[in-house]
Amino acid sequence: MLRRFDLTGLIEEVRETNAKKIGIQLPDGIKYWIFEIVRILEKEGFEVVVSGKASYGSCDIDLELLKKVDLLMHFSHTPVIELDRVVYVPYKVEYNVESVLKTLRTEDIEFERVSLTATSQYAHKLEEVKERLEDEGFKVYLKKGSDRVKMKGQVLGCNFTSVDRRAEAVIFVGDGNFHPKGIAIYSKKDVYAVSPLEEKLRKFRKDEVEKFIRERYTLIAKAMECKNFCVVASSKPGQNRLDLAVKLRNLLNSVNCNSIIVYTDEVRLENFPCECIINTACPRISYDDWRVIKKPVLTPQEAEIIAGKRSLDDYEVDEIL
Ligand code: SF4
Repeated sequence: MLRRFDLTGLIEEVRETNAKKIGIQLPDGIKYWIFEIVRILEKEGFEVVVSGKASYGSCDIDLELLKKVDLLMHFSHTPVIELDRVVYVPYKVEYNVESVLKTLRTEDIEFERVSLTATSQYAHKLEEVKERLEDEGFKVYLKKGSDRVKMKGQVLGCNFTSVDRRAEAVIFVGDGNFHPKGIAIYSKKDVYAVSPLEEKLRKFRKDEVEKFIRERYTLIAKAMECKNFCVVASSKPGQNRLDLAVKLRNLLNSVNCNSIIVYTDEVRLENFPCECIINTACPRISYDDWRVIKKPVLTPQEAEIIAGKRSLDDYEVDEIL
């Protein structure tokens, strides 16, 4: 499994920096390899310290550990920001392109022009998938999005700019529901999501998106009755939108909504006497975690709706560009 990381080339790169003490940061899903990774690096003569922090993306670099080591190796994500002394170790899943095609054939895709997308773990084979789809008669768009994404077709939970709007539908290669759902809201098109590992196809239709947006309208309506708002700005380097938080706070105050800015690395504000949270940190928190937080957690765009600066018809998914 470790062959999915190119550690050999990387060790040479790290040696050239003269680093002796190395920090390691991995997402929870691959922490079971940590003993093996540490063993390999120690055998090469490095002193290794492992970050115990969660790591949801490369927006979430362990800055405290970085201060204590010569170099930090951040596993499994492509960089969303460049930081000095941080080396990114992407994770690639080897999958069978023919099996992706076979899974796609289980559904009758009634569109000709498709935009091809994937998470970073699967994006390295999208050119191959594109060729095979073209053999089957599709017109395929494979686009590189904003600087925050590094590979053609790559999407993040906070960035869907690789989706080509000229397409009639979107094909997504990857696991889970969050990315394809985000793509559907962003593009307002049907999304065909193929999981190469499970060999399963899930379809996200426009009407499901409408249901999601209706749920968000309900939250917005609740938020409109609130008096006190906490506008969250994240201290995580790749999620920091303090300027936007200041702008939103001024906007809310201008329409008599009492608001403060809270700078934090965790959106846990149980002890703050606010009834509603406006979240400028990771957009996934607004969409996934508001039930746990037990208060409406709104995106910047939704805050603009509350303040009357945006209409409900102009609903947009929150992205960090
Ligand atoms: S901000 Fe959220 S969605 Fe974006 S890269 Fe970070 S963890 Fe992923």
